[in-house]
Amino acid sequence: MKTITAGEIQFTYTKRYFEEFVSSRPKVSEILKEVETPALVIDLEGIRSRYVQIRYHMPEVNIYYAVKANDHPEILKTLADLGSGFEVASSSELEKVLSLGIPPERIISSNPVKPEEFVDYAYRSGVNRFAVDSFTEVEKIAKVAPRSRVYVRLSVPNEGSDWPLSRKFGTDPDTALSILEFAKEKGLVPIGVTFHVGSQCNNLRNWFIAVREASYLWERARQKGMRLMVLNMGGGIPVRYMYEALRVEDIAYYVRGLIRKYFSVQPYELQIEPGRGIVGDQGVLVCRVIGKAKRGEENWIYLDTGVFNGLAEALGGIRYPLYVERGGDLKEWVVGGVSCDSMDVIARNVFLPEPEVGDRVYILSAGAYTTVYASEFNGFPKPKVICL
Ligand SMILES: *Cc1c(COP(=O)(O)O)cnc(C)c1O
Repeated sequence: MKTITAGEIQFTYTKRYFEEFVSSRPKVSEILKEVETPALVIDLEGIRSRYVQIRYHMPEVNIYYAVKANDHPEILKTLADLGSGFEVASSSELEKVLSLGIPPERIISSNPVKPEEFVDYAYRSGVNRFAVDSFTEVEKIAKVAPRSRVYVRLSVPNEGSDWPLSRKFGTDPDTALSILEFAKEKGLVPIGVTFHVGSQCNNLRNWFIAVREASYLWERARQKGMRLMVLNMGGGIPVRYMYEALRVEDIAYYVRGLIRKYFSVQPYELQIEPGRGIVGDQGVLVCRVIGKAKRGEENWIYLDTGVFNGLAEALGGIRYPLYVERGGDLKEWVVGGVSCDSMDVIARNVFLPEPEVGDRVYILSAGAYTTVYASEFNGFPKPKVICL
């Protein structure tokens, strides 16, 4: 009997993913072999269908695309044309969104700690919804953006999310309530609650705890005479990397049930802020093998891009599927980035047929949090972004 090795399972998964990706995207597949590397090839049609899919499964929820995931103008324009809202955190992001003619009513800012100049610019542009999670932020907004609407960020569990965020932001329900009351005293309008279950969240339980905590705060606020309107559920919709992700329809079904169950007064506006969930698996980073080495027991390949040129999330636990169009026996590889830095390692335990120097390597699911992170450290260029 022939047993299937872990390497074969991994490579079969990646190969099937790659073939599925290109076969449904003729324009992308044409360019993959010719494009100058490194390049991030984005499928705008795929982004369109992801957006439509989320809207279809969550018709009662307003979508505010988290611009930081990928702020390429063509992506923003594609989403703007579909009627998406936008979540921005900086003056530069806001400027990009405004330049597309998006009205300020379709823009929110959910980063709980914002530079004062940004709040000022947003307020002057007509954006008037801001997240807070501290008394200091309330004071800042009351000063720079009087009478604005604020929603408070709760800290919720981020377990099972590959890119947890919650330790940095968010507060407990009791403090959150005091913050909302303080905002009211300061002349701001407390409108709701927000949370973020962690980016790339494959754990439905996080949504469960988050919605339950939010409903508790909602009820406490009601008892204090504050009628909250908005439940903002942040980002967290996962995409596939080296494993399949939870499906949007399953998250939608589950979360809808939770809101029905836990909110005695249903929120007037439901919001989500997907970033990764819209662009993450609609981009492939095309790069090339520039070297090979055997180091002790380890087989290394080196690519013409790395963690400083866009693959920063590899450092924090994101496992990108890597594919080469070669046949032959599988070998286990460590994949090094282009720079001299020893931290610049893109992946370990990658099973691939042996590539030659010059072969193309396709890094799948590279649409989110890649080129937006990229620097030119060590003189190596950022990948070019090509939207098709
Ligand atoms: C980054 C971020 C998002 C997007 O998160 P994803 O997991 O990429 O969907 C949404 N909201 C806020 C406040 C964020 O900081």
